[in-house]
Amino acid sequence: MAKNEEAMDKIVSLCKRRGFVFPGSEIYGGIGGIYDLGPLGVELAGNIKKAWWKKIVYGRDDVVGLDSAILMNKDVWHASGHVESFADPLVECKNCHSRFREDILPKSKNCPNCGKNDWTPPRMFNLMFETHIGPVEDDASTTFLRPETAQGIFVNFGNIVDTMRVKLPFGIAQIGKGFRNEITTGNFLFRVREFEMMELEYFTYPKKAEADFEYWKKERMDWFLDLGIKKENLRFREHADTERAHYAVKSVDIEYNWPFASTAGKPGWLELEGIANRTDYDLKQHAKESGKDRSYFDEETKEKIVPYVIEPSLGIGRAMLAFLIDAYHEEKAPTARPHSAEASRGKKEEEETRVVLKLDPRLAPIKVAILPLVKDEKLIKIAKDIHKDLKKEWNALYDEVATVGRRYRRQDEIGTPFVITVDFDTLKDDSVTIRDRDSMKQNRIEIVRLKEKINGLF
Ligand code: ATP
Repeated sequence: MAKNEEAMDKIVSLCKRRGFVFPGSEIYGGIGGIYDLGPLGVELAGNIKKAWWKKIVYGRDDVVGLDSAILMNKDVWHASGHVESFADPLVECKNCHSRFREDILPKSKNCPNCGKNDWTPPRMFNLMFETHIGPVEDDASTTFLRPETAQGIFVNFGNIVDTMRVKLPFGIAQIGKGFRNEITTGNFLFRVREFEMMELEYFTYPKKAEADFEYWKKERMDWFLDLGIKKENLRFREHADTERAHYAVKSVDIEYNWPFASTAGKPGWLELEGIANRTDYDLKQHAKESGKDRSYFDEETKEKIVPYVIEPSLGIGRAMLAFLIDAYHEEKAPTARPHSAEASRGKKEEEETRVVLKLDPRLAPIKVAILPLVKDEKLIKIAKDIHKDLKKEWNALYDEVATVGRRYRRQDEIGTPFVITVDFDTLKDDSVTIRDRDSMKQNRIEIVRLKEKINGLF
């Protein structure tokens, strides 16, 4: 097995074993390209969303939030061009009848399923899931599950302008589910059929669009770097004219160096986030098709403008996968087992491999774990009291099962940044140890100072 594939397998297995991600409908054999988030996954995804919202909405004066419905009038999807153009080229293997996205076939063009090279001509396959509103299934009741959240923003543009006293340039941010009936799914959370997205539509003066595009490129790259993704694993790539979505004049991807290659055999650099200049395309289309003016009246110039839109768009599952891959470390550490006789006689300390997720504390699913050193009633009581108190502010976990070394490893593996241990000295000095996940260093601290200390660590 290639080293990279092995790395990916380890992440997938850790995600299942430790309750981050489960295959969708698993007991019925699963369902292609659909995953469920387990208790730790929902925390990690939630923390990613919080970090995004904090930066994009709370951290600025020019962006407001929105939560529009998943189901929209089907006319939205005709106006936006998605019914016509949101499609990928599909080919079918004449030998085994497997279907693939033509543009991501391997270089050899051999069928990834049976190895033959005998394909039907490509036909465009629309990626939107169709559904029906109400009890009658006819053309009039047909609509689609949204493939992007952006259209909910465009159709609410007038409502936001009318109610929020926003001034150009301003943005509308939204987090919500998107659905794409991808022809070929794969690489775990990388390409799935149901996923959450974080999208910002930043409305600006047409003249300022290029500068704002560059501004958002940098903002978005800095966000990943600030949350700990290694610089060498990120880069920009501009789309060629043939690749761009139907609504964009310019698109740049922030690519991540994934431990897998695309089916086309390209090295691991693939899209993490897309940043597009959508121009005034969407607002103009909706104005035309709905008959409702979508322009903005500029008080300063006394002119009506249809703003341009810069859109950074990121899938939460894809982001989660990048954060997990980047944080995953295996390193040598003193053994978690009680030391052997040789070790205690002063021979070289025993070592083992520890798995540690070096997630930024802001993203870590559990912020702090509290352990009694051993199962002693007095220590348990103090540890449980501390847990109860800290739980009011952070997602804290109490664990008394197995040796303390094993319990440290369990927390390392899920990325818990701090572990507090109550030991027999606690009974004398009302202090505990606080262990740092990455350095494994332990410091003693008074129980009354714990909250202040943890607060300062985020
Ligand atoms: P790709 O070329 O990888 O299919 P795309 O160019 O169609 O992606 P965009 O339309 O730019 O993707 O979507 C914005 C973001 O949404 C992507 O950068 C990615 O983070 C996420 N995303 C898109 N499609 C999927 C999917 N099928 N599964 C998971 N995340 C996705």
